[in-house]
Amino acid sequence: MSSHTRRPSQDSQESQIVEEKIVKINGEIEIKSYSKGRFLGKGGFARVYELLSLDAKQITAAKIISKSALNKARSRQKLMSEIKIHRALKHPNIVGFEHFFEDSENVYILLELCSNQTLNELLRRRKRLTEIEAQCYLLQCIEGLKYLHSHRIIHRDIKLGNLFLNDKMQLKIGDFGLATKLEFDGEKKRTICGTPNYIAPEVLDGKIGHSYEVDIWSTGVLGYTLLVGKPPFETSDVKTTYRRIKMNAYSFPENIPVSDEAKDLISSILVSNPADRPNLDEILKHDFFSKNAIPKLLPASTLAVPPSSS
Ligand code: ADP
Repeated sequence: MSSHTRRPSQDSQESQIVEEKIVKINGEIEIKSYSKGRFLGKGGFARVYELLSLDAKQITAAKIISKSALNKARSRQKLMSEIKIHRALKHPNIVGFEHFFEDSENVYILLELCSNQTLNELLRRRKRLTEIEAQCYLLQCIEGLKYLHSHRIIHRDIKLGNLFLNDKMQLKIGDFGLATKLEFDGEKKRTICGTPNYIAPEVLDGKIGHSYEVDIWSTGVLGYTLLVGKPPFETSDVKTTYRRIKMNAYSFPENIPVSDEAKDLISSILVSNPADRPNLDEILKHDFFSKNAIPKLLPASTLAVPPSSS
């Protein structure tokens, strides 16, 4: 033991057992117990842990949101909207929503466990990906987006950190905190939201409103980022990044090999006028996705090292 006294961590003060009170149709109360496991990560409001249900012996990821963080009507509303949108979704490329409940202190959202973290951690380890990997991840992201858009949902925050990988290395779109469901197809949204590097020019403009094309834009930013290793409009300050997005000022670095097909696809997506961007089906038909065979899934070894070319 070291000589200085260590304060118990916040985690060790929190309860390790979570109890869900279920009121049955006949009024009886059933208590379902879970044991809190490994800490998985932290978001804006939530702390995320592995949660083991003690009866079914099933492990999920639990997004735990302290009710004290929900004191503002706006943050409560945002969480309700996230739950309402996410709970209705079911697709192999969307993080599965199991269910949610609350106790006196917290709201618990139980999600499909994605044990291989997100593309953010992956890219941090690998610096940049090979073309085959980029094809494989982009395909899965687009399949997830096709499902969302066909249900009139715009995700609005497609980025490395919201693309999760499960134990089989399947890509899963997660975090519906900024998602919105359109009432009708031609509806335009005006709320300014997104993540600086990935935000579409029409969102920054604010006047014309935005729609599904913002997810297409972010998919272009994602493709560039996977292949080049950093986002196309990144600078050291947000204002300059926004200025570059509005001016469409980006280029492919000469020292990094990116195929002509990839450059052509990304350049066709990263155009200022949303109406000029290809739709998801047009993207899938691009040569970038037909020039070679694309594996359905990548081996877990690629979390640390590039796939072997043999
Ligand atoms: P917030 O909506 O508050 O930003 P996130 O959904 O981004 O929270 O989750 C925060 C972090 O928790 C993520 O970056 C990730 O590390 C971890 N996490 C979230 N959901 C899962 C999941 N389904 N499986 C594994 N880890 C997860």
